[in-house]
Amino acid sequence: MYKPDHVKTSPDFPIPETMRAWVLGDPDQLTLSTKSVPVPKKAEVLVRIDAVAICATDLEIIHHGPPAMIHGGLPYNKNFTPGHEYMGTVAALGPGVDEYKIGERVTVEIHAGCGQCKRCREGMYTSCHNYGLNYGDVDKGHRANGFTTDGGFAEYAINHVNTLVRVSDAMSDEEATLVVTAGTAMYGLTELGGLVAGESVVVTGPGPIGLLGVAVAKALGANPVILTGTRDNRLQIGLELGADYVINAKKEDPVEAVRRLNGGKGVDYVIECSGAPDAVNEAARMVNRGGKICLAAFPGKPAEVDIAYLVRNNIYVFGIRGEGKSATHRAEAFMAQKRFDATKVHTHTFALEDLPTALRYARERIEDAIKVVVKTHGHAAINSVAAE
Ligand SMILES: [Zn+2]
Ligand SMILES: [Zn+2]
Repeated sequence: MYKPDHVKTSPDFPIPETMRAWVLGDPDQLTLSTKSVPVPKKAEVLVRIDAVAICATDLEIIHHGPPAMIHGGLPYNKNFTPGHEYMGTVAALGPGVDEYKIGERVTVEIHAGCGQCKRCREGMYTSCHNYGLNYGDVDKGHRANGFTTDGGFAEYAINHVNTLVRVSDAMSDEEATLVVTAGTAMYGLTELGGLVAGESVVVTGPGPIGLLGVAVAKALGANPVILTGTRDNRLQIGLELGADYVINAKKEDPVEAVRRLNGGKGVDYVIECSGAPDAVNEAARMVNRGGKICLAAFPGKPAEVDIAYLVRNNIYVFGIRGEGKSATHRAEAFMAQKRFDATKVHTHTFALEDLPTALRYARERIEDAIKVVVKTHGHAAINSVAAE
């Protein structure tokens, strides 16, 4: 039985000594193996993972490596477990933890910064200056589960208390996995100025962050909120999440359409979630003079940018990484108050043992998959379904 020294456990939540965990071997090679259940240190808890959502970044990591960085390098053949958008139940408390109780349902933020660098002190822990410095003799306390430390395609994980967000029992496991995605959109809007009530916002790219960006912008009072994309089914979900207008860029010029819909002037803010090669130039022509562009997606290749246009028009452009400044808590508050229905982006659920199939659904967008969730228990595996 799991009973490490100085760790609080409960007979109500018996913890085995070992757990099932997917481990990344070579690129695209995942194996379901057995690991020891990890032990929380000071200010950390053990989370029993109940559900984990698949993110496009997981697909990147499993196929290419970055932005994961294990022991200072690529994440391959290092006994690394990817997966970062998970939720679960607090199962054990590290020394000194009294902020949470065993049995509480939580969802997680990915990044626990070191807590001592300049950026962490500013609340920008997703840009921690000690990123990835948590191996060997180097222990700065930084963790980004699923990127620099073990993640959520497993039955248990360790989380710093700063990365936990309580979720109400009214929220399903699947919905709770989406809090961090909404939190990323919220962070983008926070960095755009936060006070977006009455301001006009365009979201480009109806992936999970873009769709929840629409929802969060609308919940914050932005008006109008315009979503651009190339697939009508996803634009339809954008409308259901609160977009005032949607533009299919295959059917009309999105820059012209945005300007027309906003009185010819262009909008105040663009949240760029498409990663398209010309996205920055298009976004620049969608915002009004002095407008702001927040980049939340990364293109596969370096992109050419018309800088003179940005300078002449005093346009602000900046990137965001992940879910800083406790944005996840604000996103969860909106979801708990049912200000929008994030479950509209959840399309498929699989059992933990079917992770490779789940990844294939997410990668190939089988059956219009958007957010694919994997559950560690309570969801029948494909084989057992077939056997019934
Ligand atoms: Zn993600
Ligand atoms: Zn830091």
